[in-house]
Amino acid sequence: MGITYRIYLDMEQHQYHKIYACSKCKSHLTTAQRLISKDFHGLHGKAYLFDKVVNVKVSNEQEERIMTTGRHCISFIACANCERDLGWKYVRAYEPDQKYKEGKYILEKCSLRMLNSPIS
Ligand SMILES: [Zn+2]
Repeated sequence: MGITYRIYLDMEQHQYHKIYACSKCKSHLTTAQRLISKDFHGLHGKAYLFDKVVNVKVSNEQEERIMTTGRHCISFIACANCERDLGWKYVRAYEPDQKYKEGKYILEKCSLRMLNSPIS
């Protein structure tokens, strides 16, 4: 099932007016308000944790990964528009103190572009 539409985030509703977009095609992905932490590492360096993203495809495949914070089950995510690899979704965290990550998203910093002004 292909996704043919793109969602534009309504910046008027957001206090910070900062949008994180795909670095390749500029599809809107999430906003600064959805940012939980910048203190994460992806496959290619720094990565950010968000509680909600849009315009992404979540892989049907799930992978078990041992990370510095313990064992996690993740699904990789890609831009729904240009298919650039963006990061992953935490499907399951096995350590009790890591449970807050379940259902949340890692976006690689190198895959993001910050937009400060509305798209006209
Ligand atoms: Zn893209």
